Amino acid sequence: MHQLTLAKISKALLAKQFSSFEITSYLLQRINKLDPQLNSFITVTEELALAQAKAADERRAQGKYHELLGVPIAHKDLFCTEGVCTSCGSKMLANFIAPYNATVVQKLINTGCVTLGKTNLDEFAMGSSSETSYYGPVKNPWDLTRVPGGSSGGSAVAVAARLVPATTGTDTGGSIRQPSALTGVTGIKPTYGRVSRWGMIAYASSLDQGGPIAKTAEDCALLLQAMAGFDPKDSTSISQEVPDYYSQLDKKIAGLKIGVPKEFFSGGLDVRIEQRLQTALQELEKLGAEIKEISLPNLEQAISAYYVIAPAEASSNLSRFDGVRFGYRCENPRDLQDMYSRTRTEGFGAEVRRRILVGTYALSAGYYDAYYLKALKIRRLIKNDFMQAFAGVDVIFSPTTPNPAWQIGEKVGDPVSQYLEDIYTITANLVGIPALSMPVGFADGLPVGGQLLAPYFAEGLLLNIAHQYQQVTDWHRQVPNGF
Ligand code: GLN
Repeated sequence: MHQLTLAKISKALLAKQFSSFEITSYLLQRINKLDPQLNSFITVTEELALAQAKAADERRAQGKYHELLGVPIAHKDLFCTEGVCTSCGSKMLANFIAPYNATVVQKLINTGCVTLGKTNLDEFAMGSSSETSYYGPVKNPWDLTRVPGGSSGGSAVAVAARLVPATTGTDTGGSIRQPSALTGVTGIKPTYGRVSRWGMIAYASSLDQGGPIAKTAEDCALLLQAMAGFDPKDSTSISQEVPDYYSQLDKKIAGLKIGVPKEFFSGGLDVRIEQRLQTALQELEKLGAEIKEISLPNLEQAISAYYVIAPAEASSNLSRFDGVRFGYRCENPRDLQDMYSRTRTEGFGAEVRRRILVGTYALSAGYYDAYYLKALKIRRLIKNDFMQAFAGVDVIFSPTTPNPAWQIGEKVGDPVSQYLEDIYTITANLVGIPALSMPVGFADGLPVGGQLLAPYFAEGLLLNIAHQYQQVTDWHRQVPNGF
C-alpha cells in the first residue's frame, strides 16, 4: 500500500479497495517503525489522523467525493496547524501550539485530507541540508550517512521512504526542489503569490512560497490544485483563477522549445549530474521538444544577491521572537535587555543567528545602499535575463543541484560551500517564477534531479512536461533499499 501514488490511493478509496482508516493506520505503523532511523517527522499526530480518517470514511459513505478525501499527507513543520505543535525546527517555538491553521492546511483539510504529522526541517527553513533542526538532522534514505537536502528535508524524505504519499513544503531559495532532487522525488515551487503564505511562518517574505512534494508530477498536480488560489488574508496572494492542472497533464509536448542556459553547465557541476542531464534532454527531444541554448548572463551574481536579501528579510521577520508574546523565554532575566538577548541567543541556533546578524548588518544605515539596494538591483537584472530568455523558449531546463547528497557534517563548518548548492534553485525565487524538480537518474546510487523553470503562472506546463517525461522513464519509481 505504501508504494501507491496519491492518485492511485484516491482511486482505490473510490473503488473501496481499502478505507482511509485502513491506509492511515498502516502508514502510522510504518512511520513508527521506520522513522526513528530517518528523523523525518517532528510530530506524528496519530489520534488526529485516525479521527480525520474515520470522518473521511463517513463522508464517503454519505456519497461525498473529492479526489483527496481520506488521502493521508503530512505538513512541513512551518505551517501552522491548529492545536498541534508548530516548531519550525527551533527551540524558540518548541512549545508553540498554533491557535489556527495556515490557509494551505485549512484548504487541504477542507478537501478531506488526513494529516499524519509535521515534518522536520532546517531551523526556520534556513539551510540546504536539514542538519540545523533543533530536533536533530534528517537522514537520506538512499544512504543514511548523507543529508537529504533542505530545508524541507523531512517532507522529501517522508515521501522518498514511502512513509506518506505526499507532503507540503516551502521554498525560499530551493527548499522544495533541492531536497526533492537529493532524495529522488518530485516537487514544485509555484509562482510567487499562487499559494497563500498566511500561517506559513515567514523566513524571507518576498521569496517564500509553499508547494507540494510527491512521488510524481501527477500527484503534485492534485495537491497543488487544492493548495493554490487567492487568499484575502495574504496581501501578496494573487487573484487569478487556478487552472485545472490535472487536465493539462496528458498534452503532448512536441514542438515545445526548451532552453538550456549555457552558464548552468559550466564550472562546479558534477560530471555525473551533467551526463544525466544530457540523457534527460535526449529523452525530452524524443518526445518532440526542441532544445535551444540560451544565456542568463547575470547568473553569477545570484547567490550573493540572495544571501543579502534573504537574511535581510529574515532579520526583520524574526524580530518578533523576543520572548514576550510566544515561544521560548530565558530563565530569570535581569532586565528587558537581558531577556531579549538571552532569549534570542538561547532560542535560536547558530545558522539562524548568523543570518540575523548578516541581515541586520546589510540593512543598517550606511550599508543599506552598498549591500541591500545593490542586491535588489541585481535581482532586477536577473529577472530581465529570464524575461528575455522566455521570449525565445517555453521553459528552461537545468540541473536542480550541482552535486548529489553529501555526507552529514561535511559542510557544517563551511556555510559558503553549502550556500553554493543553491546556485540553480535560487533564481526562480528571486524572479518569482514557478520551478519543478523531477528525478532524472542516479550518480553512484544517489538520486539526481532535473529542474524545469517556466514563466509566471505556467505551473500547468511544468507539470505537463514532467508528467510526459515520467510516462517514458521510471526514475521516479525507484525506491531506496529497505523502504
Ligand atoms: N538554502 C536556502 C537558504 O538557506 C534556501 C532555503 C529555503 O528555500 N527555505 O536560505
